[in-house]
Formats: sequence, structure tokens, C-alpha cells
Amino acid sequence: MNTNADLLARRSAAVPRGVATATPVFARRAENAEIWDVEGKRYIDFGGGIAVLNTGHRHPKVMQAVAEQAALFTHTAFQVMAYEPYVALAERLNALAPFVGPAKTILFTTGAEALENAVKIARAATRRSGIITFTGGFHGRTLMTSAMTGKVMPYKRGFGPLPGEVFHVPFPVEQHSVSVDDALKALRFLFASDIEPDRVAAIVIEPVQGEGGFHIAPTGLLTALRAICDEHGILLVADEVQTGFARTGKLFAIEHSGVEPDLVTMAKSLAGGFPLSGVLGRAAVMDAVEPGGLGGTYAGNPVACAAALAVLDAIREEGLCERANRIGARILPRLEAMQRRSDLQPIAFLRGCGAMIGFDIVSRHGSAEPDREAAGRVVRRALDLGLVLLTCGTHGNVIRILVPLTVSDAQLEEGLDILEAALAV
Ligand code: PMP
Repeated sequence: MNTNADLLARRSAAVPRGVATATPVFARRAENAEIWDVEGKRYIDFGGGIAVLNTGHRHPKVMQAVAEQAALFTHTAFQVMAYEPYVALAERLNALAPFVGPAKTILFTTGAEALENAVKIARAATRRSGIITFTGGFHGRTLMTSAMTGKVMPYKRGFGPLPGEVFHVPFPVEQHSVSVDDALKALRFLFASDIEPDRVAAIVIEPVQGEGGFHIAPTGLLTALRAICDEHGILLVADEVQTGFARTGKLFAIEHSGVEPDLVTMAKSLAGGFPLSGVLGRAAVMDAVEPGGLGGTYAGNPVACAAALAVLDAIREEGLCERANRIGARILPRLEAMQRRSDLQPIAFLRGCGAMIGFDIVSRHGSAEPDREAAGRVVRRALDLGLVLLTCGTHGNVIRILVPLTVSDAQLEEGLDILEAALAV
């Protein structure tokens, strides 16, 4: 039998350290909200493969759709010979677009690829070059998306020069003492000092920052950005890679605000564990690029498209948007009770949108000072006790919960019990 220690040694020798792994254990199999490692130890999964598994590991409908598609063909390249699952998925997503009016969808493979292509589409449609994003935002690890990401370490350092014409505005976060007014003021300064608004192609924002710390974009900010975009002919892009597909209680998180974006990037939970991403947008904008300007050999892989169609069925048939709200309503009171206890690691700034929930690990009760080391300890102890937990945030001290929305109540409570035990000081 392979042990975790053997595999870790082989991994260290064979795989560069640039790809970091949050846990020192190796997966053997997984089912819905549970994972077993190669030594047979069981874990409740509160990380969902970084927001990929809103429908859980190996959802039966997804597995069946994948098997059926794999029995027919697994690849032709959409650019060589197209296939129905791609078109059917585009039709389904267009009908679900979080804006009024005709929509079109193009499919890719990774989240970063979706963001790269959203930029290409926005530039082609506006014939402008500037891209504005936010501090703490995360958009991927390709060169352009590294430039767009609002965090230097470890995403930018040593990789420059990064592509130009990318500008950052502070993202409003209470514990960083940045208000919506501060953000909008910074945007006005940016227009005055670095790039005039009629050279900006797009403003790209996560409706809830994911890697940046589960900070919710205030509706007032989104509404103001929409107005600024309308005034200056700028496109508003909602990066829904982490927030999408029922996680926040709506199919897309931007729907909570009532603000209509022009483009939406999506990936992760779109295909329930298969590599698939896409850009959904206003049809006239999406058609701005000349034929051949967009695509990719594997983009919109038919097996992944079949998985995504099954994911959309599961979200509807199993009421996973409502389920996300019920999961959030179970988690938050438990976290509030943990926050009140003086015998647990101090936690602060509980926040959530549906089942996208995060909180800060802080140094003392009543303090806002981030404690990254304590967050690491909690995560390691949780793993020992059988719970996969992920951190995030500018200071690495935020614990985020991304449990599958298909988790049973019993397993959700079991996971929360472990979290509580891991917080013991
Ligand atoms: N955008 C957001 C909001 C993300 O959370 C991520 C991944 N964490 C990405 C883009 C990049 O996706 P990928 O890792 O699939 O390239």
C-alpha cells in the first residue's frame, strides 16, 4: 500500500514546489462530501476542491452523463467538428444569464482562461485596452490574470514584467478600513492620474471575493460601478468563477445586487469536477471577435459539457440554491456560538452569502489583528480530526467554508463539530 509519507517523498522529488498542496495527504476516493486518503482515513470535505464541488464528489447524475458521453466520443475539438452538448450548454447558460437581452456563451477549460478571454472580448468590443480590477481580487495564474490579481505574494513576485494596462482599485472591506466611498474615490483618482475612462475596456469584479477573503462586494459599489460603466462605455465583468452555480443561494452571486453585468466568467462548479470554463455575455459584445480569434484545442470538451448539463439539472431538481441558504443558516449560528466562547481560538468578522462563508482568525477576542499562524494550526488540527478546511485572505488568516451543497445535515454537523474541536486552544 502507498502511504501518505511515501507519496509525499515521491512528490517532493518529482514535482516542483511552485505548486503547493494545502494538505500532506493523498486522495484515494471520494463520494459527495467525503474523501478517503490512501491510508483509508476519512475526511469531511469543507473545501470542495476549491469551490468546484457544489454538487459534491461524483454526483450520480454527473457520473452517468459523463459515462454516456465517454461511450460516444471524448474529443473532436469544437473547432474541427462541433457537437451538441456544447451548443446545448450554451443555450442553457444563455437562458440563465443574469441580464436582460440576448446572450451568447463560449466555453474554455480553466478559470484563468475564461478571464483571459473576457479581456480579449472586452478589448475587441470596445477597441480599448484598459482593465480595472480590485485589490485582493484573484483572477488566475496566467500572465494576464496574474496582472489582474490584486495580491503580490505569491502570485506576481518574480514573474514580471506582467502585461500592462491593468489597474487596481481598493476593494471595500470593513476590517481593512476601506469603504465604498474610498473605493469610488480611488477610481476617480485613477481616471485622473493613470487612465482616462474612455480608454478603459472593462471593470472586472468578483461579487464575493474568493481567494481574497470571502468579502462581499457591497451592492452600493456594484450599482455605482454599473453607472460609471454606462456613463463611459466600459464593460462590467462579473468574475463568478468561485461564486457561481448556487454557492451563494443564487445561480450567480451578482443576482443578489440586481446589477446586470455585461460579461460573466465561470468555471469550477460549472462542471462538477471536470475542467470546463466559459464566458457568458451580451450577444453583441460576444460577437465582436472575428472568427478564429477565440477558442482552444480542449475548450468546451464534450465530456465536461455533458457533466455541466447534469450539474445544471441537479441544481434545479435538487433545489441547490435554496439548499445553499439553508446550509448557511445552519453554519452561521454555530459559528456565532463558537465566536462567543473564550476557550476557543478567537474568531471575528463572520460573513457569508448563502453557503459561501468565511471568518477571520484573530490574535485576541475583540481584536481585528489577523493571526495567520493560528489559522494554519486550526486547519492542520481539523485535518488530523478528519475535516478538510481551506484558508484564504490577504493575510492568510481567513477560514472559508465551501462544503458541497449536497452534503447531508448529519455530515454538515459532523464537520462543524470537528471545526469546533479544531478551534480549541
Ligand atoms: N477567478 C476566481 C474568482 C477564482 O477564484 C479562480 C480560482 N481560484 C480563478 C479565477 C482562476 O481559476 P483557475 O484556477 O481554474 O484558472
